[in-house]
Formats: sequence, structure tokens, C-alpha cells
Amino acid sequence: MKISKHKWGEPDRSDPYSTRRQCTRCPTVKVTRKEHPQYWTEFWRDGVRVSVDKTPACEPVRAPQQQEVAHQ
Ligand SMILES: [Zn+2]
Repeated sequence: MKISKHKWGEPDRSDPYSTRRQCTRCPTVKVTRKEHPQYWTEFWRDGVRVSVDKTPACEPVRAPQQQEVAHQ
């Protein structure tokens, strides 16, 4: 089974203690936290923190079907 790697987008450094990178292919967000003399990485998906020890697979999901207002 092939594991896809994430394609991280531009880092968001609005928070001085963490850097967020949104995967451009799936909902996973990589957060690099910097506190004290150490730093660590967290992975978030749909607002839930997922495995910290290893990078979760990149699993693109189908975009939710959004009903756009059609021209009449
Ligand atoms: Zn991904």
C-alpha cells in the first residue's frame, strides 16, 4: 500500500510559538510548536489532533458537496 506524502503549503507564522502548515492535498495541518528550548510537531485533522509520533498518511478526501447558488 502506497503512502502518499503531504504537500505542505505556505507556513503560517502568525503565532510566535507555533508554525502551521496546511497540506494542500488533504485536511491535515502540521503544527510545529516551539516552547522553552524544545520544539515538537503535531498533526491536526478536522480539528482533532492525530498521531504525534509519526506523520499520518496523506489521504485526500472528497470535497464536501457545496451547493453553490446557481444563476437563475
Ligand atoms: Zn496531506
